[in-house]
Amino acid sequence: MKLCTTVQEMRQERAQLGRVGFVPTMGFLHEGHLSLVRRAREETDAVVVSLFVNPIQFGSADDLTNYPRALERDIALLRREGVACVFTPEAAEFYPEGFATQVDVGGVALELEGPSRPGHFAGVATVLVKFFNIIQPQRAYFGQKDAQQCAVVQRFVRDLNIPVDIVTLPTWREADGLAGSSRNSRLTEAERHRAPVLHQALCRGRTLVQAGERRRAVLEGAMRDVLVQAGLVDIDYVTIVNPDTFQAEEEVREGALALLAVQLGAVRLIDNMPLF
Ligand code: AMP
Repeated sequence: MKLCTTVQEMRQERAQLGRVGFVPTMGFLHEGHLSLVRRAREETDAVVVSLFVNPIQFGSADDLTNYPRALERDIALLRREGVACVFTPEAAEFYPEGFATQVDVGGVALELEGPSRPGHFAGVATVLVKFFNIIQPQRAYFGQKDAQQCAVVQRFVRDLNIPVDIVTLPTWREADGLAGSSRNSRLTEAERHRAPVLHQALCRGRTLVQAGERRRAVLEGAMRDVLVQAGLVDIDYVTIVNPDTFQAEEEVREGALALLAVQLGAVRLIDNMPLF
């Protein structure tokens, strides 16, 4: 497995590889990340994984500083997965003095996480355009865990005619339902114990839809109740949207997606689930 830390090394390495499957990550890998790597291995000649905590997608300096990191462990895990190349660029090379360009994403990027995390999706889109230009993958793999991010990526890849297929894979969950996330490592023991209630709230919404409920307000209220009863009161949003627009509709329809964002102690957790 090749380790590349500069753009030049990465470009040279890429030239040796055939059909590339790319898995962008911020490291501190878990089974969710590895599920993307495994699928990429099945579908392409060579897998490239980036480990890069992208500073321009963070709103708060604290969140960036506290983001968990385990570079050596991640590299060892990826070696075992048969990855061809790991790219760990330096922020100073990626964003040198004078860097002045951003991808201005609209549409779905303006909903939910958009206003909650100003600049986040522009930062994500900008780093991904850089990665796509340097690595030139045939396919790039993303997790449904970040459903809105997937929609934003699909949109700008299409809008900007970037020649890459975007593949979205299901959310990997712990046995108790908690969606895998690097941020879970920052939960205290007591918070970790409560965290599966996010998944339980989503399941409650889906159960009601299966029983025939279609009124969004009723479904959102029921999901919110599950959170509040478990003592999770710092709720950013609990909502159900049309997955094409990420806008809420009065009556939920086939394809509708429930999403929530909750602050649990120092950690902001997000999760989502298709209701049909
Ligand atoms: P991150 O390192 O959090 O930026 O995530 C890198 C990629 O892994 C993104 O495409 C995420 O959506 C995906 N991912 C993160 N958590 C999970 C999970 N629990 N299941 C599946 N994919 C995930």
